[in-house]
Amino acid sequence: MSTPNNRIIVAIDGFSSSGKSTMARRLASKIGYRYIDSGAMYRAVTLYGLDTGLINADNLIDTEALVAALPSIVIDFAPQPDGSQHTLLNGRDVEEEIRRLRVSNAVSPVAAIPQVRHALVAMQQALGRERGIVMDGRDIGTTVFPDAELKIFVDASAQTRARRRFKEMIEKGAQVSYEDILANVVHRDHIDRTREESPLRRADDAIAIDNSEMTIEEQDEWLMERFLEATSGSKH
Ligand code: C5P
Repeated sequence: MSTPNNRIIVAIDGFSSSGKSTMARRLASKIGYRYIDSGAMYRAVTLYGLDTGLINADNLIDTEALVAALPSIVIDFAPQPDGSQHTLLNGRDVEEEIRRLRVSNAVSPVAAIPQVRHALVAMQQALGRERGIVMDGRDIGTTVFPDAELKIFVDASAQTRARRRFKEMIEKGAQVSYEDILANVVHRDHIDRTREESPLRRADDAIAIDNSEMTIEEQDEWLMERFLEATSGSKH
């Protein structure tokens, strides 16, 4: 399938810390598409809730108040000189804050609130209107862009994913334990898969990849081949 300007939508879904953001970002930069990290949007709403006390220290959410606050939560992405993007919450750069365990531990219940999903899905669809976009998340191929020309579903074992996230956080100087990260990954998987509103699942027409044993370069190469197939319309 091709669009008038031949720019397609690439939807990359998968489990927490499966490496889908890395894959998506690197592909987007190579092919000159815009990359959108939809998880960052759920994280930004969660940070707003934590900062305003609408999510308390035990991660209990005042759902009604958070939903009422949605129109005043503005999320943007600011391109950086190195080609990456930073997430802005009401104009403030929160890129580093939204990756902290405090947010990771609170985000999945927030992402299970139907009104939160409806608001963010509408924003994501607006971002994809011009096509030429690579978006990663949990429901991009199933709900946000069910008509995406290329859908990928990324998986890796929970241990591999926790190890990667642990290494990433330690490199950033965070003081975290591997056990806490693993518990967070397993917990988020469970909530993401079992929630009622657009649960994490592979779209029927998504191509699956388990990257547990793959290097980033192998992953890049595999994805580029899928992209070239999708844009040339020939799938073998
Ligand atoms: O991708 P990342 O791990 O940063 O996403 C954070 C959380 O946001 C996920 O654990 C999931 O609960 C939620 N999410 C979602 N739908 C998306 C992207 C993320 O529910 N499209």
